[in-house]
Amino acid sequence: MRIAFFSTRSYDRQFFNRMNADFQYEISYLEATLNPVTATLARNHDAVCVFVNDHLDAETIQALAENGVKVIALRCAGFNNVDLVAAAESDLKVVRVPAYSPHAVAEHAVALLLTLNRKTHKAYNRVRESNFSLDGLVGFDLYQRTVGVVGMGKIGSVFANIMLGFGCRVLAYDPVQSGPSAANASGSSAEFCDLNTLYELSDIISLHCPLTESTRHLICENAIMKMKPGVMLINTSRGPIIDTPAVIRGLKQGIIGSLGIDVYEQEDDLFFADHSADVLLDDDIARLLTFPNVLITGHQAFFTENALKEIAHVTLENLRAFAAGEALANEVKRS
Ligand code: NAD
Repeated sequence: MRIAFFSTRSYDRQFFNRMNADFQYEISYLEATLNPVTATLARNHDAVCVFVNDHLDAETIQALAENGVKVIALRCAGFNNVDLVAAAESDLKVVRVPAYSPHAVAEHAVALLLTLNRKTHKAYNRVRESNFSLDGLVGFDLYQRTVGVVGMGKIGSVFANIMLGFGCRVLAYDPVQSGPSAANASGSSAEFCDLNTLYELSDIISLHCPLTESTRHLICENAIMKMKPGVMLINTSRGPIIDTPAVIRGLKQGIIGSLGIDVYEQEDDLFFADHSADVLLDDDIARLLTFPNVLITGHQAFFTENALKEIAHVTLENLRAFAAGEALANEVKRS
């Protein structure tokens, strides 16, 4: 099998080459993002392997099919960047890695939360300059605070259990799961409630739902107005779940007390590349970067050794199953 591997970074090559020793596929590593123009690079390949910011719209998918591609292997969980209707019409199978390490993402959400609260990023820089002042570094105890989890799937459940371990009260909203959630080691569990109650009562809100038409701009002006003044908002899910200008207004009004994001609405043209010598043209992220109470990471929540190994293994195993004509356990189909 020949695989055209788009949006390649050094770590992809490292982990996939290691795993491919067991599969022996012919992999063409391409730095280009997949879009209608670059789709021709997949000519003479059976499969494309793509990531979160590759554009698999109808035009790209048609071009892939015309170039002989038969299967799209997502090396991620989310599939909001794939036009599944177009894929079905072009008879292209779509497979993904549904769960590589929910712990990696949940733990990164906790890292954002703890950093924003205890301001360790500022303390680190201060102390390196022999500034041992504590001014402006005050945080709050997480113990007995209320944490709202939006989306209690694999990642949300792990995150909820970590926060229960801190002694927090955890409220959860999920249209499918309605609990009670599995209790953690100390016997406590998340309490399911409606979204408005979660907004009203939570000191911290963490988003773990997928990006769908119903979750796009879930965090809008109207939602923010219902939140507790000073709420901490964490998003490790997908950028467009947050309406960025509305959140900027919420930060300016002080309703949002702090914001930690690993994903950003317009991240496609920014993330996974070094733009340190470029002029930043995106005014929203430029504005976000001016706030002292905003912490941004560049879509790295998944980025642990465990997750990268699992992503490489499941992706190549998905392609093996496809080539063998077996049932595809990780196929994504239009609903
Ligand atoms: P999952 O499918 O196990 O869980 C998602 C949950 O969200 C489900 O229980 C679902 O019922 C719920 N949900 C659906 N619509 C909802 C809504 N309107 N409001 C609230 N909940 C809703 O998925 P997961 O593995 O937990 O991943 C969650 C998301 O995390 C993924 O969709 C992906 O976008 C994101 N993610 C980010 C990274 C990263 O590196 N930042 C890595 C992996 C996944």
